[in-house]
Amino acid sequence: MNETEAYSSLSISPGTSVLAVVAHPDDESFGLGAVISALGESGARVSVVCFTRGDASTLRGSTDDLGAQRTSELADAARVLGIERVELLDFQDGNLASVPTSTLVSLIRAIATDESTQMLLTFDEGGLTGHPDHIAATAAATAASRALGIPTLAWTLPQQIALTLSSEFGTVFVGRSDDQLDIRLTVNRDLQVKAAHCHPSQAVSGSPLWRRLELLGNNEWLRWLVAPTSINDEEA
Ligand SMILES: [Zn+2]
Repeated sequence: MNETEAYSSLSISPGTSVLAVVAHPDDESFGLGAVISALGESGARVSVVCFTRGDASTLRGSTDDLGAQRTSELADAARVLGIERVELLDFQDGNLASVPTSTLVSLIRAIATDESTQMLLTFDEGGLTGHPDHIAATAAATAASRALGIPTLAWTLPQQIALTLSSEFGTVFVGRSDDQLDIRLTVNRDLQVKAAHCHPSQAVSGSPLWRRLELLGNNEWLRWLVAPTSINDEEA
């Protein structure tokens, strides 16, 4: 991909408070890990709110209580990624779309207010894998960000990479065309890889994650769901 000049970079001031909004333990690592790691390198303080304990996962790697195992996996991964605070909530895994968005928004707003959050980070609107929990978490983040008057940045995939993954794995990855990508971020994946290995219950070795990281190389693509400029416009 040689059109990277068309994308903006992301400038984050040291001390910026960022809240990542995700549905499942592992989303912060498999999905947002490299972005969170890059934000940390820029001096941002990153917190995470995760709506479920991921206990409905079909990738049962052990006979232990999966919810408890994934809770401790998330704590380990958060330490690796330098995440300062994890709020792990108890909504039913796989059923987040049935929770009223206003309920999820209230919870995000409370944590964001407590953390003086200046930006939300979440999955793109298609949920990347089309998972309804991801889509619900993103919808709540977007609504909360409008209510708070702060931007929301979404992690996404270029269309070509999504199509390649979809065909290779026989599953759906939702990507974006070039004109829908706002930011190309150069990332170092060391911490993301280490954090991913903190989630052994998610059959890490066979995950499409590794192929995705191979296709992405040291790039991640992001798009604004609520852009900083739109907030300024609304305030004006
Ligand atoms: Zn997930």
